[in-house]
Amino acid sequence: MEKRYDLLIRRARLRAGASCDIGIAAGRIAAIAGRLDGGAATVIDAGGRLVTESFVNPHLHLCKVWTAAMIDDAAMQAYHGDGMANAASAIDLAAQVKAKYDESWITPNARRAVALAALHGNLHIRALADVDTKARLEGVKALLRVRDEFKGIVDVQVVAFAQDGIVREPGAAALMREAMVLGADVVGGIPWIERSPGDVAEHIKTCFDLAVEFDKDVSMLLDDTGDAGSRTLEAMARAALARGWQGRAAAHHCRAMALYPADYVRALAALLREARVPVISDPHTGPLHARVRELLAEGVTVCLGQDDISDAYYPFGRNNMLEVAFLAAHLLWMTTRTDMERLYDMVTVDAARAMNLPGFGLAVGKQADLVVLDAPDVLEALRTRRRRT
Ligand SMILES: [Zn+2]
Repeated sequence: MEKRYDLLIRRARLRAGASCDIGIAAGRIAAIAGRLDGGAATVIDAGGRLVTESFVNPHLHLCKVWTAAMIDDAAMQAYHGDGMANAASAIDLAAQVKAKYDESWITPNARRAVALAALHGNLHIRALADVDTKARLEGVKALLRVRDEFKGIVDVQVVAFAQDGIVREPGAAALMREAMVLGADVVGGIPWIERSPGDVAEHIKTCFDLAVEFDKDVSMLLDDTGDAGSRTLEAMARAALARGWQGRAAAHHCRAMALYPADYVRALAALLREARVPVISDPHTGPLHARVRELLAEGVTVCLGQDDISDAYYPFGRNNMLEVAFLAAHLLWMTTRTDMERLYDMVTVDAARAMNLPGFGLAVGKQADLVVLDAPDVLEALRTRRRRT
């Protein structure tokens, strides 16, 4: 018999509750119907289990995974203690690891983390590689190698990330440009770490200049500090508008937002909507976090990232986005069924939108990046946090 599909998933339960068959051909979803006829090279019987889009992790420090053993507790104490008043010194303490940075050991660590992602159905990762005079381009080279190795399995976007600043780290700007020439996918900045408003503006300008020159998206870690006066999210969103980069600049962390006055948060949300800036929050890796509920209510795209896997900033993590959503449910007190669906969006479709993934979605014609959960619905998926395939 002629085989119409490469892969046929029978008796899949969709999030809306319907049971259906999903036919896949040439890597795309070819048909979705109650019952599909036609043979397939491979048939998976989902048996009424939940089938959804794959998980998406829009924020992972992939060059640092499993480096916790290389450093003492001082950076973790500085990052998590005293209401994040010492977050900047945490970054300086954590930078010790980078004296030892070498592509030869970063590559297998990153490979292991991406393989774990695949096991957990996490098929798209925005991965940050530190670029500064200590890390040089060792992290970038390792992550580019791992990105190419996993092509067709896990889609890795490599962010050239100026972790130690651009103005306060002489040499970083030239290295950032070199990283883009090597093939990095996204320009990554951290303007809040600079020492003056003028330096913040210079940092943001340098990142957008590179983004425009190489036609790449921007990702910036913003206001990752317990300083209520840190306002670099606003500065980045205004730059995105001024440079015509609406929908191409993502905001990460934004922890100081927890300390902003409510009227400022509302005005900021309007600006984020206008500049189409998504906010990627990681509430499990720091004592402060972006005002997720308020941003959602204001119509801003919000999603969740893993952030770290056993490094100077966070001791756990295994690239399981169900685990990230489960932790967020507690930290954000998102516990209703409606909240569960929202959390699930924040580690799948909303994260995909934040990363500008083409062809993502569970619909005919879209890429066949799907997961079969060992659960009948989203609530049980979050409760058990187990994958089926
Ligand atoms: Zn981070």
